Amino acid sequence: MYFDTTYLILIPAILFSLWAQSQVKNTYARYSKAFAGLTGEEAARMVLEMNGVTGVTIEPVAGELTDHFDPKTNTIRLSRGVYDVTSVAAVGVAAHEAGHAVQYAVGYGPIKIRTAIIPVTQIGSYLSWPLLLIGLLMGSETLAMAGVLLFCAVVAFQLVTLPVEFNASNRALEALGASGYLKEEQLDGAGKVLRAAAMTYVAALAQAVSQLLRLLLIANRNRRD
Ligand SMILES: [Zn+2]
Repeated sequence: MYFDTTYLILIPAILFSLWAQSQVKNTYARYSKAFAGLTGEEAARMVLEMNGVTGVTIEPVAGELTDHFDPKTNTIRLSRGVYDVTSVAAVGVAAHEAGHAVQYAVGYGPIKIRTAIIPVTQIGSYLSWPLLLIGLLMGSETLAMAGVLLFCAVVAFQLVTLPVEFNASNRALEALGASGYLKEEQLDGAGKVLRAAAMTYVAALAQAVSQLLRLLLIANRNRRD
């Protein structure tokens, strides 16, 4: 077997991703020590109320950084370090998840697209490599390109995730700012936590794009051979 150098194309995105993850960890740790005056649960409830959204359940969930909004049951689940914790980090994260609940309530377009393409994305991430490799082994260019095309769904998913995540944070920060509960430095801290988290989604997109480039390189290289 030859030495595959195409993996080198993945390295910048992997480094970027590691950096983004360390930023999240550091920012979250720093603002976990900053007092906010209300709990994560209260902050989420406030964002919902200020947007006139009703009927959303807020409950605690096990684990760390497991916070999410479940559109199927219309439930915001907040981790133990967020739910009844009065830190700036907790308030930022909780308000962001409430931002997702608001997106569903108002029918925000990108989140609908994101939900709709999840099945294709899952098929794409499972089948793109096998299709490409089988295509190359059988000498079928069509099969190999089908593998590459399927992976485009993964890239599309990561791409549409960006407006969804940035918009949820914007809704969260707007509501927190308008509420008048937080001082400027607390609001600023919540913004830093959410921007650091958003960077991990940018990194995920960069990884998906470099994976796609690698698939294309491998498909094309074997065509020349
Ligand atoms: Zn989010």
